[in-house]
Amino acid sequence: MTPFSFERAENASASAGSRYLGGGTNLVDLMKLEIERPERLVDVSRLPGDISETDGAIVIGASVTNAALSADPLIRERYALLSTALLSGATQQLRNKATTGGNFLQRTRCHYFYDTARACNKREPGSGCDALDGHNRFHAILGASEHCIAVHPSDMAVAMAALDAEVHTIKANGEDRTIPATDLLRLPGDAPERDHVLDDGELIVEVRLPANPPARQLYRKVRDRASYAFAVVSIAVALDVEDGVMKNVRIALGGVAHKPWRAEKAERALEGASVDTGVFAQAAEAELQGAVGRGDNDFKIPLVRRLIVAALRDVTDLSKEHSA
Ligand code: SF4
Repeated sequence: MTPFSFERAENASASAGSRYLGGGTNLVDLMKLEIERPERLVDVSRLPGDISETDGAIVIGASVTNAALSADPLIRERYALLSTALLSGATQQLRNKATTGGNFLQRTRCHYFYDTARACNKREPGSGCDALDGHNRFHAILGASEHCIAVHPSDMAVAMAALDAEVHTIKANGEDRTIPATDLLRLPGDAPERDHVLDDGELIVEVRLPANPPARQLYRKVRDRASYAFAVVSIAVALDVEDGVMKNVRIALGGVAHKPWRAEKAERALEGASVDTGVFAQAAEAELQGAVGRGDNDFKIPLVRRLIVAALRDVTDLSKEHSA
């Protein structure tokens, strides 16, 4: 492992050149492989952080663990899809360590990114991408580029995107800023080495969930085994239904892109429409018009189409009506 300096943060301050250690459940593995080589590592996992309510909005400290967040009564009651998403990720031991801030910043699980003998533009810009014509069953179908087709692995980030969460940060120059969770992570474009929009040394300090989320919520994850598996694809849905009409529709997809994919085309097709399987299918079709497979992952396109329809049928109770 490359030598680095280590210190424990006394307060939430940011400094240029620092990398921050939350639970370390991904970063430490990457350091052992020398894929990540921070020169200055600052442990922020013990900074005070809790879950509080302000005017109906929920404020979550960046150091709150995934286990604590998933079990919080307010989250379970009002933001149930977030709790479900967290519980579907990793194992209890990992959730006990992984933090809210760190979860957003975990890196792709693309095999070629971890295999230093293979070409990977994310690990080594300009070296190529062995996934393009390689084993790409888990890779992106939306928003990919010729430089990278990796997907972001987080369940939590997909839930946060659907709930319109906001990420609050401090920059190295002391300025703070608010970034919509949907925009924190980025598409690869011609710079796949950059996963997110944070500046050098910028620190996530808290995440806010807006008050009054839609009442009907669902998170569903399709994976190869029942636990300790990343999503093949996933969906987070939040909406209200009044007199058979859908309102406040929010949908985010996981396992399909380099970032949680906010399904805005599907949302527009559903907003104000009647609860109807045909409408759901049209919304899914609209969202997936630009989807592109790379061979092994072609199956994701019909899978996501069916997942969107099935999730909408369940969250609107249409599936119950038809099975009654
Ligand atoms: Fe690297 Fe991205 Fe290609 Fe995977 S898909 S090998 S992460 S450049």
